[in-house]
Amino acid sequence: MDGIAPIDLARPEILALEPYASARAGGLPAAGSVVLNANELPWGPSPGSELNRYPAPQPAAIRRHLARFYGVGENALLLTRGSDEGIDLLIRVFCTAYRDRIAVCPPCFGMYEVAARVQGAGVERIPLVQSSDRPAAGIDQAALAASGARLVFLCSPNNPTGALVGRDEILALAGALAGRALVVVDEAYIEFASAPSLAADLASVPNLVILRTMSKAWGLAGARLGALIARPEVVALAAKIIAPYPISHPAADAVLAALAPAGMQKMRRRVALIRRERERLYRALGALPVIDAVYPSSANFLLVRSRDPSLAAMARRAGILLREQSTQPGLTGCVRITVGAPRENDRLLAFLENGR
Ligand SMILES: *Cc1c(COP(=O)(O)O)cnc(C)c1O
Repeated sequence: MDGIAPIDLARPEILALEPYASARAGGLPAAGSVVLNANELPWGPSPGSELNRYPAPQPAAIRRHLARFYGVGENALLLTRGSDEGIDLLIRVFCTAYRDRIAVCPPCFGMYEVAARVQGAGVERIPLVQSSDRPAAGIDQAALAASGARLVFLCSPNNPTGALVGRDEILALAGALAGRALVVVDEAYIEFASAPSLAADLASVPNLVILRTMSKAWGLAGARLGALIARPEVVALAAKIIAPYPISHPAADAVLAALAPAGMQKMRRRVALIRRERERLYRALGALPVIDAVYPSSANFLLVRSRDPSLAAMARRAGILLREQSTQPGLTGCVRITVGAPRENDRLLAFLENGR
């Protein structure tokens, strides 16, 4: 199967598609141009504002900064409205409705399955493998390799367990699926982990796709900016079907500010603080009678197993919002707790100790 490239797995109608050519597709107007090609109003809402103009489809400065930060070439990168959009684009490029399917490894993020259902793609659920000290850790290589899926979604660190999927496991799976499927590694939380991104492995693994986001470590969930990282041919296919102007001016401005040196420093400081707080919470939670188990995490949250099934509901009445996980396979009694600011974590611990 070595002769089959990842793009050969794409839907034929996407391969054949002539994408929409927007007024800005050929680049931004040169300074001083009389811009009469996009049916825009000539005036913005206030002096100096450019909101009357359609934005650059893929803002060049953001691409340059993020390509460097992720350690990949700019042609390996597509900027998306959060990584949620990256998930959706991949499924729409590679899954023909009512024929193709994806594989997911529950317990995991729910958007993969939702995006697949919307596209009419099937979903194979191949649960993470239980181990003695963790509810779910390893992937079931053999079952994934035999699943017949076009896209395998892995999440590392995994939401909601916080565990990394081993690089060796992922690369072995990608090798086993060469010519048959793409392996998508969702690295939404990788900045909080000690392990590096798998982006460097793209050079040797053509069927690997990485999803990154500015929603978590960068504190920009409200700006909606993610990145799909893959071989240039795969990126080009996703770029064919993305909406013409996905990145709004305000989103681009916020992201560019975050990527300036001061913003980078702030991000690294904050990630370091969250990691320290994660370790503090991990120890404190583990000592509480109401907590049966707290699982080691490489992300900005902790998964705990509570002795009291109403923990999340009780916390809610005390004004503390936690995420119930009981409906996920193997996670009965589990709750996901985001690591907050030090004072928020103090409040959580006070509630768990004293019930208020
Ligand atoms: C939060 C999260 C994302 C981020 O989604 P955005 O659309 O980028 O905000 C992606 N994957 C997982 C597993 C997440 O938990």
